[in-house]
Amino acid sequence: MATAPALIDRHGRTISYLRVSVTDRCDLRCRYCMAEDMRFLPRDALLEIDELAAIAERFIARGVTKIRLTGGEPLVRRGMTDLAHRLGRQIGNGLDELTLTTNGMRLAEVADDLSAAGVRRINVSLDSLDPDRFRHITRHGDLARVLGGIAAAAAAGIAIKINMVALKDLNQDEIPAMLAWCVEQGHDLSLIETMPLGSIDEDRADRFVPLTAVFDDLSRRFDLVRDARSTGGPARYWRVGASPTRLGLISPLTANFCDGCNRVRLTTEGRLYACLGHDDQVDLKVALRTGGTAGLDAAIDEALAIKPARHDFRIAAGAAPAVGRHMSVTGG
Ligand code: SAM
Ligand code: SF4
Repeated sequence: MATAPALIDRHGRTISYLRVSVTDRCDLRCRYCMAEDMRFLPRDALLEIDELAAIAERFIARGVTKIRLTGGEPLVRRGMTDLAHRLGRQIGNGLDELTLTTNGMRLAEVADDLSAAGVRRINVSLDSLDPDRFRHITRHGDLARVLGGIAAAAAAGIAIKINMVALKDLNQDEIPAMLAWCVEQGHDLSLIETMPLGSIDEDRADRFVPLTAVFDDLSRRFDLVRDARSTGGPARYWRVGASPTRLGLISPLTANFCDGCNRVRLTTEGRLYACLGHDDQVDLKVALRTGGTAGLDAAIDEALAIKPARHDFRIAAGAAPAVGRHMSVTGG
């Protein structure tokens, strides 16, 4: 049988990581992510779960070793755990890791199922440990539910990484306490710079916190030791003292790591975006429906041919977002 061609872009980067946005919908409305009256895609525009699986499996056949299911909120999509089970069967058959990013609101109900599907690590967004602040930032979030979901996932043997977007005057003062909590709980922590993706109800420039300043503050309070491991993304990592906790800084604005980028993103509509920060995409839904595997391969190759060298994010007062798509559409 002929081997499926590997995924190498025109800049020589090998693509081994696929993020799949299984829905653009969400049960929260985090202020930095979407507007309160966010419009979602009509349901008939979405790929079926079977189609999402078929596309992901083709990526695995072509060399993708890591898949992250995301959204929107992946756990609001019906059939999500079926998808996780189907892709989980590829672990050891090309796929090394199946993971998920979630807001945690529905995590308690599915933690055992995700673990049974082979999910060993997940990212949970948690921007504050104060219930009122948490509700304010997410507009509808229930901190106790999210903490319950995290506890259920940990009890099911799933390692937790907390995602926290650093926000001026909303949670910046809580970052040291969040890191201390993660160390105490045995979780990793990724701090994220707010990115200019899609319109929201406020000016992102008013909330932007450069992680360079956050790092200086944290390194005075904690014993941070640089960890060279890289995920091919915009993150840099540190060990926190002798604890197992890893601190990650995702700073696409103040530090650009596009040279090592190894990822592409599939939207729930079937569009393949080769870069989070650009509008170029190819339509895998049409390719799959009209051309089967050969059509899919040709469309994937087309996306690799247009993957840009780098994103060009900037946050300035009054500036339009770098791209009109929200993170929830492309899959964060
Ligand atoms: N709903 C899930 C969640 O919140 O974890 C998964 C999707 S969400 C889009 C993925 C990650 O992107 C979350 O950690 C969220 O905090 C982050 N995010 C969303 N919008 C962002 C933005 N404009 N800039 C930076 N991070 C953002
Ligand atoms: Fe929903 Fe995640 Fe966006 Fe928050 S960050 S609104 S949880 S998609």
